[in-house]
Amino acid sequence: MTHTADNCDVLIIGCGLFGAFTGLFLAKRGVRVTVLERGWVGAQASGTNFGNLRLHGRSANQYPLSLRAQDLWERYGDLTGEGCEIERTGHLYFAVTDEGRDTLHRDAQTATGFGVVSELLEGDALRQRFPFLSSHISLAAFSPRSAVANPRLATAPVARAIQRAGSHVIEQCEVSSARAIPGGFEVQTTSGRIFSAPKLVNAAGAWSGRVAKQFGEPVPMFSAGPPQFVTEPLPFRLHPSVHMVEGDVIVRQIRRGNVIFSGYPRTHSLPSGNFTHVPPSKTLRGMSALLRCIPMLAHGEIIRVWSGVEGYLPDMLPVIGPSTTIPSLFHAFGGSGGGFQIAPAVGEGLAELIASDMLPSMLSGYGIGRFIDSTNVSVKIEREFDCPAIQ
Ligand SMILES: Cc1cc2nc3c(=O)[nH]c(=O)nc-3n(C[C@H](O)[C@H](O)[C@H](O)COP(=O)(O)OP(=O)(O)OC[C@H]3O[C@@H](n4cnc5c(N)ncnc54)[C@H](O)[C@@H]3O)c2cc1C
Repeated sequence: MTHTADNCDVLIIGCGLFGAFTGLFLAKRGVRVTVLERGWVGAQASGTNFGNLRLHGRSANQYPLSLRAQDLWERYGDLTGEGCEIERTGHLYFAVTDEGRDTLHRDAQTATGFGVVSELLEGDALRQRFPFLSSHISLAAFSPRSAVANPRLATAPVARAIQRAGSHVIEQCEVSSARAIPGGFEVQTTSGRIFSAPKLVNAAGAWSGRVAKQFGEPVPMFSAGPPQFVTEPLPFRLHPSVHMVEGDVIVRQIRRGNVIFSGYPRTHSLPSGNFTHVPPSKTLRGMSALLRCIPMLAHGEIIRVWSGVEGYLPDMLPVIGPSTTIPSLFHAFGGSGGGFQIAPAVGEGLAELIASDMLPSMLSGYGIGRFIDSTNVSVKIEREFDCPAIQ
């Protein structure tokens, strides 16, 4: 049976991939959902990101969620009825420092423990297999099941599938306040519309901290994004997605020939939280780092630079799970630079939790409560951002 948008079972704030996949998996269970999006579906981090669906190079606690997500990306066409240029290109990490080499060895061992191939290659074997890498690079790890997708195409099909399942997605609908009322929640939009539902999901991306705070759950989240650029089309020679484990270079080439670059350090978003600049110095720095590692790209002309607004938490892990203060409120935000890959499993797991009241094991360790009495800060925070990362 169809329902009206303002009278549903679950309201979701934000239609990036976290909110969209949560909505889709709920709708597929017959739950009546309304997703409210301030701007356009998938136009923020979910649409501006680099597009890596990387499996290896993760800490052990991330593998259950990440592996489930890869299964779901591989079934994206069945789930949504559309495509988003998903391709199993494989992902190649390489190291240029001793510390980086140690990381590759350690990460390959962790990956193997979860049945993920992360093949270590050095010397002639590396050069024959990946001749585009500069000769000073002596160790790399290849994950054949890793993939890429086109972020610009990824969220809209999920939103359309929600609508085909009888639920609602409303764009240009900014939630200005949300409050608990007897039996559920009431949210008000900037245009004065009121929506209510027994359950509420906070999936507002880098802006989720505002919603969490309204419910007495402040989080130490900050907004930033890596500098990115794309070149004119070049001869297609870079099949895998390639990533310096030290972080200066993350690069891939699409079939049309354009080379897409991302790299660290990331830049803090403007104080408004709505935009992240790409300082020209970071583009120049990225170009030189790229040429040191993949000299054949020396003659590519850059045609566009951009970044995005992503929410980062001090331990570089997302918040996914129930509120600790308000029953029937759920959070899914703070992708911390890796939310594109895990998004389908975030949505599936959260839908299961909302529908059955049981926290799936792949979501354990991501609760918002971890910030109440812990200041666990990932080593990546110092390395991957312009300091100070946490202000
Ligand atoms: C440049 C860049 C490169 C990245 N590269 C990768 C990568 O290669 N691989 C990877 O796995 N991850 C990557 N990420 C991270 C990934 O893109 C994010 O973690 C993920 O897309 C987060 O999805 P989301 O749904 O939480 O947030 P978003 O996509 O930002 O969606 C949140 C939505 O909420 C809406 N919203 C906010 N406030 C309100 C409100 N009050 N009312 C209504 N709607 C609201 C916003 O408009 C937005 O559309 C990258 C991120 C960036 C920025």
